Amino acid sequence: MNWHDVIGHEDVIAELKTIMKQGRMPHAVLFIGSEGIGKQLVARIMAASLFCEKQNGTPCGECFSCRQFFSNQHPDFFSLSPEGNSIKIEQIRQLQGEISLSPYLADKRIVIIDKAELMTVQSANSLLKTLEEPQGDVIFILLAHSRQSLLDTILSRCQVFNFQPLKVSVLAQALLSKGIDKDKVDILARLSDGSIGKALELWEKNGLQLRKQAIEVLDCIDLDDIWRVSTALSELERNRLLEVLEYLSMLWRDMLVLHEECNGELIYNIDMKEILNNKSDAWSTRRLLAALQLLSKVRMSLKSNANARLAMESFLLKLRDL
Ligand SMILES: [Zn+2]
Repeated sequence: MNWHDVIGHEDVIAELKTIMKQGRMPHAVLFIGSEGIGKQLVARIMAASLFCEKQNGTPCGECFSCRQFFSNQHPDFFSLSPEGNSIKIEQIRQLQGEISLSPYLADKRIVIIDKAELMTVQSANSLLKTLEEPQGDVIFILLAHSRQSLLDTILSRCQVFNFQPLKVSVLAQALLSKGIDKDKVDILARLSDGSIGKALELWEKNGLQLRKQAIEVLDCIDLDDIWRVSTALSELERNRLLEVLEYLSMLWRDMLVLHEECNGELIYNIDMKEILNNKSDAWSTRRLLAALQLLSKVRMSLKSNANARLAMESFLLKLRDL
């Protein structure tokens, strides 16, 4: 594992390398960027570089520190992630206990806190105490999907690095190099909002199959269709159903873009441009906007555990009458 394994983010990596080489590493850094974009990988390579005995801004992969780190056995490395839906104060307290001791192997300890936005307020305030009284030998790397999701007091203690979404062409190239079919890479890259993790997840979970189910919604006209499609959708696991609805919102958003006669290059579902264009008579801008509103309501009710079958039936019936 090394810097060349990271896809994109060249500017962030260059800055981190400079900081490390100059020995200006702050006590806390915060990586902001969407899920699956590469924050975790960059954080781990940075930790390995800081531990590496050669200290030249990159892990040599051969020294004792590197070998310990890459076999997940480095005693001075800690990684914290949410238990259930949050990072709990007990987790932070346990971590504080562990890092209060001197390092075993290196001259420092490194802590990665993944999904830092899921810290409870108590957890964040407790961590803040540690960040406010930095000890020379602990470096915190916080990962979060957005700046807004963190307390200002935490933000003010961290040097922030922003991870930008990857370009479609960069993502497509990366997917191709992972052996994914050429005819699928472009569409996966577009549907994944610049995140390599999301693109791979789509591929592995057969996300394109879910999109097919979303497309069926567009053609629901008579009651038989509505009955058949709502049955099929309600048989999906709840999270999968919500994913189908996310695809549906992307399809409608694409249709809105096509109505504006904008450059079709901007649409997510580039492989469906013609199909979507053919449906544009049935889907006016007014109907699309109303449909998107309806969709956001049904998503909310599904998230609060509404009966999927009833919710889908009523959604499709209302949709037909828009
Ligand atoms: Zn090394």
